[in-house]
Amino acid sequence: MGSPDLDSLRKMLDDINQQLLVLISKRAEIVQEIGREKQKQGIPRFDPVRESVMLEELVSRNEGPFDDATVRYLFKEIFKASLDLQQKEQKKHLLVTRKRKSEDTVIRIKGIEIGGEKSTIIAGPCTIESYEQMRQVAATLKSLGVTVLRGGAFKSRTSPYDFQGLGLEGLQILQRIAQEFDMITMSEIMSVSDMEIASQYIDIIEIGAKNMQNFSLLKAAGNYQIPVLLKRGMSATLEELLLSAEYIVNCGNNQVILMERGIRTYEKWTRNTLDISAVPILKKESHLPVLVDVSHSTGRKDIVIPCAKAALAAGADGLMVEVHPDPSIALSDAQQQLDFAQFTEFLNEVKRSGLFRQ
Ligand code: PEP
Ligand code: MN
Repeated sequence: MGSPDLDSLRKMLDDINQQLLVLISKRAEIVQEIGREKQKQGIPRFDPVRESVMLEELVSRNEGPFDDATVRYLFKEIFKASLDLQQKEQKKHLLVTRKRKSEDTVIRIKGIEIGGEKSTIIAGPCTIESYEQMRQVAATLKSLGVTVLRGGAFKSRTSPYDFQGLGLEGLQILQRIAQEFDMITMSEIMSVSDMEIASQYIDIIEIGAKNMQNFSLLKAAGNYQIPVLLKRGMSATLEELLLSAEYIVNCGNNQVILMERGIRTYEKWTRNTLDISAVPILKKESHLPVLVDVSHSTGRKDIVIPCAKAALAAGADGLMVEVHPDPSIALSDAQQQLDFAQFTEFLNEVKRSGLFRQ
């Protein structure tokens, strides 16, 4: 029997390529099917043990001409491609995405809306220091038409030697002030064990940047029917932020507000780098409201106005800014908090810009 000519060898190769393509496509479909089944059962998609069993089985049957390492390499690539496909499919189905829900989520709290037609301002001191301090802030904000009051009771301080906040007493002050001035309140919670008590005192739970990936806290917040403001971690990608939001929504609480608060870069002239591009991207990818914290992102008072305008121009649903009766004696973030005159100017300028939806 003479050897086949080059053309027929090539034809055989083309046929095998096509058969391989049909087979790996079929394999990918089965992997997708398994992924959907695993998702239904709440089992993780990637199973390294199963992958290694499959590889060893293949290697044990290997009769060459490829050596075992090459067989492992080739199949690992096929496994990885199928897994990537599953990942893409799962991303498409995240509850927080526009692909899943096209219309904007509007959070309604005691007659106000966040993410609706009007822009929102959340203002107040970094830390709740006393009843008197909060009363002064609330009276000023209310007289200026600002109704969402923030203040930290459980403070996420970098140093353990810095003031850690008044804890429960702080939440009690906030609640009393809110009742006196008919305001909506927000405060940061750092621990799962504080969720229950906090939900009785405040209207919006803040999960701070340093806790964006505290998955137990995210799940706990997801188990309450209370609005949650989720801040972007200082080195978190937007995908990671959305996945953290997904933890909350997936547990049954769809009242989540996303907040860009600056990320850590090499730049030293601002406390963090305000990632303006995060705003249109988050608005495009997700139906959740997006707010921008102009205080922690910049760490300075002199540029909050242009940064606030930029945030609104980029499509933010609102802003957060720190306000203190006398920032020079504030127990935290003294350098970035606005005094009442500065806040009044801030508000006037932001409104005058025409970018603030009133
Ligand atoms: C805060 O908002 O009080 C705060 C601590 O901010 P961040 O989590 O963004 O650092
Ligand atoms: Mn602060």
